[in-house]
Amino acid sequence: MKKIIESFITEVGQRNTHEPEFMQAVREVAENVIPYIVTQDIYHGKNILMRMAEPERVVMFRVPWIDDTGEIQVNRGYRIEMNSAIGPYKGGLRFHESVNLSILKFLAFEQVFKNALTTLPMGGGKGGADFNPKGKSDGEVMRFCQSFMTELFRHIGPNRDIPAGDIGVGGREIGYMFGQYKRLKNEFTGVLTGKGISWGGSLIRPEATGYGAVYFAENMLQTRGDSFKNKEVVISGSGNVAQYAAEKCIQLGAKVLTLSDSSGYIYDPEGIDAEKLAFVMDLKNRTRGRISAYVNAYPKASFHKGKRPWEVPCAIALPCATQNELDESDAKTLTSNGCFCVSEGANMPSTPKAIKVFHAHKVLYAPGKASNAGGVAVSGLEMAQNSLRYNWTREEVDTRLQAIMKDIHESCIKYGTEKGHINYEKGANIAGFVKVADAMLAQGVV
Ligand code: NDP
Repeated sequence: MKKIIESFITEVGQRNTHEPEFMQAVREVAENVIPYIVTQDIYHGKNILMRMAEPERVVMFRVPWIDDTGEIQVNRGYRIEMNSAIGPYKGGLRFHESVNLSILKFLAFEQVFKNALTTLPMGGGKGGADFNPKGKSDGEVMRFCQSFMTELFRHIGPNRDIPAGDIGVGGREIGYMFGQYKRLKNEFTGVLTGKGISWGGSLIRPEATGYGAVYFAENMLQTRGDSFKNKEVVISGSGNVAQYAAEKCIQLGAKVLTLSDSSGYIYDPEGIDAEKLAFVMDLKNRTRGRISAYVNAYPKASFHKGKRPWEVPCAIALPCATQNELDESDAKTLTSNGCFCVSEGANMPSTPKAIKVFHAHKVLYAPGKASNAGGVAVSGLEMAQNSLRYNWTREEVDTRLQAIMKDIHESCIKYGTEKGHINYEKGANIAGFVKVADAMLAQGVV
C-alpha cells in the first residue's frame, strides 16, 4: 500500500514542483483515500484521485492599482477552479502577502472535499492575491478590489463560480468587489457570498465558520458524553473565525483563555467574556488594531510576543488563524497538558506530524475540511436565499447550520470509525471523496 501511495505522490509531485502546501494536502488525502479505493472495484482504472489533484482551470492575472501617494502598484491575482463535479466552483478569496499558487491550490483542493461534506451542491475553488490589506487606507483597498474584480468578473458567475471571503477578505472587501461586479455586468446576482444583510447577505454567515467549528467539537464531545461546559479553551487567531468560535464557546459555558494574531497571543487567566470579546471585535474589525492592545484594556491579561498559544494548558484547542500554525511539539505540549479535543477553524493549521500526535493520544481531532465547513455551508444557504429572493431568519439559518455540522460529523463516523477511536481525518477524506468521485464517474472523462 505504501508503495502505491508513494508512486501516486511522486507523480503528482513531478507536476507540482515547488508547491509544498499543495503536496501536503494531497498527501494527507491520498494516505486516507487510496487504501479505500483499493477495496472498491468501481473506482479501479479510472484515475479519479489523479484527476481530482489537477485543477480544472487556473486563472492568474495582473492587478494594477494606484496607492494614496499616486504610485502605481502591481499585485498578482488568482482563481483556482478545482472541481465542478457536484456544483459550481465555490470557495473564498484570500488577500495576504503570503498568497501564492501552492497555498491557493492546497486551499482549493481541500475545498472540494469540504464542500462535498456539507451535502450542498457546490464544487470547489479558491482564489486571492498577494495583496496585504493591513495598513492600507479604505480608498486603497477599494481601488485594489475594483481592479481585482475588473479581471475576475469574466471568470465567475452565480452558476459558474461563486467566491467568498477568507483571510484578509471580510465584509468591506466583499462589498467593494460586489459593487464592481454589478457595475461591470449590470446585474444584481448572488455572485459572491458574505454580502451585507441589506444587499443579499445571509444572517449567521459572519458567525458560521467559528460557530460551526464549535458545533462540530460539541458533536465530538457528545460521543464521550462530554460538553463545553466549564472547559478551558485555547483559541488562535483573532479574525472572523476566531471571534465567533470564541463567542459560541462563551455561550456554551466554556472559559476562553487566549486569542492571537501574527505578532503573538494574549492570555487572560480570568477568561475572555462577552464584554471583552466585544472589545476585541471592535479592535480588530473597526479600528483594525493589534491583539496586544487587549492587555492595555485588561491588565490582568498578558501578551506573549512572537509566541503561539498552544503552551497554555486547556481541555479544548481551536486553531483558527492559518495553515501549519500548530506543529508536532505544540501537539505534544497540548496533549501533555491534558488537551483532548482539537477542532480546526482554520484550513490545515496542524502539521502532518502534529496530527500523528493527536491520533496517537486518541484526541478528538477534527480536520478543517470537516469542522470549518460551516462557513461555506452558510454561503451555500446564502446562494439558496439569493435564488429564492428571500431571507431566512437567524434561527432558521442557525438550525440548518447545526444540522449540517451534525451530518458532517455522522459522515466522518461512517467512514472513520476504527477500533476504539473515530479517525475524523480519514472519515472526512473518504466521505468527501466518495461524493465527488461518484459524480465524476457518472459524468465521464471530462
Ligand atoms: P481573518 O483575516 O479574519 O483573520 C485571520 C487571523 O489569523 C488574524 O488574527 C491573523 O493575524 C491571523 N494570522 C494570519 N496569518 C497568520 C500567521 N502567518 N501567523 C499567525 N497568525 C496569522 O481570516 P479568517 O478568520 O476568515 O480565516 C482564518 C482561517 O480560517 C484561515 O485558515 C481561513 O482559510 C479559514 N477559514 C475561513 C473561513 C471564513 O468563513 N472566513 C471559512 C473556512 C476556513 P494578523 O492580523 O496578524 O494577520
